[in-house]
Amino acid sequence: SEEQLHCIGCGVAIQTENQQALGFTPKAALEKGLASGEVYCQRCFRLRHYNEIQDVSLTDDDFLRLLNEIGNTDALIVNVVDIFDFNGSIIPGLHRFVGNNPVLMIGNKVDLLPKSLKKGRLIQWMKERAHELGLRPVDVLLTSAKKKSEIQDILEAIEHYRNGRDVYVVGVTNVGKSTLINQIIAQVADVKEVITTSRFPGTTLDKIEIPLDDGQFLIDTPGIIHRHQMAHYLGKKDLRLIAPTKEIKPKVYQLNPEQTLFLGGLARFDFVSGARSSFIAYVSNDLTIHRTKLKGASEFYQKHVGALLQPPHADEITAFPELVRFEFSIKEKTDIVFAGLGWITVSQPAIVAGWAPKGVDVIIRKALI
Ligand code: GDP
Repeated sequence: SEEQLHCIGCGVAIQTENQQALGFTPKAALEKGLASGEVYCQRCFRLRHYNEIQDVSLTDDDFLRLLNEIGNTDALIVNVVDIFDFNGSIIPGLHRFVGNNPVLMIGNKVDLLPKSLKKGRLIQWMKERAHELGLRPVDVLLTSAKKKSEIQDILEAIEHYRNGRDVYVVGVTNVGKSTLINQIIAQVADVKEVITTSRFPGTTLDKIEIPLDDGQFLIDTPGIIHRHQMAHYLGKKDLRLIAPTKEIKPKVYQLNPEQTLFLGGLARFDFVSGARSSFIAYVSNDLTIHRTKLKGASEFYQKHVGALLQPPHADEITAFPELVRFEFSIKEKTDIVFAGLGWITVSQPAIVAGWAPKGVDVIIRKALI
């Protein structure tokens, strides 16, 4: 029988038949890949060469089996999260599956948060949020996988906590797990030694195993899709616009009650009642915020979405979900979080409403900054 080929990016089994399914590679690309000795699936190829994001279809069954396998092994679990989208980074049910295995949480993309934010405070905040979700990480580290910073500290922490065991690296898609893994490979292993053969039992997903000094492995697992991310409703161009790439410059708004902010045409924030005060928006610097009156804001949106209020763009608005309203009564300094898009910090008691496309969560949390 023909030997199964695996993508050297994500480890998935390569196939040339079904364009929609995992591992698809056009025949011509496969031939080129074989000639050069580097076969990538189309998804990894696009990501590497065009920085384009493609959907992967990870079924719920595969996802549960993956977590089960991890829960049944004696290993260190490294959970990579995106600190710009902390809630969107949480793997549903992870705490129930890890069993007695220690979890090391790595907060990635620290470069996006204002430099003035104290690291100790951020780590404390992450620990508190993790506890609320039932996760008790043995430690929380911060990094910026893109910038190679602190990679040595991370390796030392992994070495310390793994205590001779294997390491599973888990994360939802887009948190920067691959970027981090690539940095780790560059530090600890020869790319040729990295193997992608062993399969999670009962799944279509393959492990990428990176050999460690003592015969154990650091195992990269497939990214898990978080259903409520804004990312699922946007085109690739818009996605690049809302995903910040540089330190976020907070935008401060002095608002009177009954004023509204539109975050492009993607989300909306209403200051319903309370005393005039300042509200701080933490979103991509490239996303335009538009201030208007609460009265008539829905009509304003209908009229201007796709033009003055964008993204989405004019040709995308028919497919774009309607905005759904969530109301909150705020007592203390709180972030109104628009999953994957950013957040608005409310500092004074107020009644506010957050609107997001149907299917995308709006939640509140203790203020990060
Ligand atoms: P994965 O899906 O978790 O494997 O995520 P990727 O490694 O593909 O990264 C997703 C996106 O986040 C890419 O656009 C990366 O360039 C970006 N990214 C990864 N690490 C960092 C980081 O430390 N800082 C910033 N600002 N972006 C990052």
